[in-house]
Amino acid sequence: MLDPELRELYQQVILDHNKSPRNFKKLETANRTAEGYNPLCGDKINIFVDVEKDIVKDISFQGSGCAISKASASLMSTVVKGKSIEEAKKIFEKFHDLITGKLDEDESIEELGKLAVLAGVKEFPIRVKCASLAWHTMLSALKNEDKTVTTE
Ligand code: ZN
Repeated sequence: MLDPELRELYQQVILDHNKSPRNFKKLETANRTAEGYNPLCGDKINIFVDVEKDIVKDISFQGSGCAISKASASLMSTVVKGKSIEEAKKIFEKFHDLITGKLDEDESIEELGKLAVLAGVKEFPIRVKCASLAWHTMLSALKNEDKTVTTE
């Protein structure tokens, strides 16, 4: 369990990203895109990525969904921008460990920085899909798969 003060802070960050999502637009320079859908909650997302020499030069998203899915997409976009495809994959693996409870909290804050605000998701298994949707969709875009990602 997270301590109540930390939980409150994390909640504020999530609400802020939900209200003012970062990189929430269509990216005109995108050379890779993917679409994601989480039927369990109704979250829909489109990811736009501009990849140059295996580096995520720019990334953006559009879509509609719950606060967790939107905040996670917003945070993902800020964290992945400027990273290599390989790094983006590694960050997602760590993030996935965090939201499924495989990473302890001290470790997660050290390794994941601001993504740690989504740590509370692990207490709500149904929300794990909301929090991971943007990531699965981002990876699909990087792989240039031409299909809709669903969490089912
Ligand atoms: Zn959701």
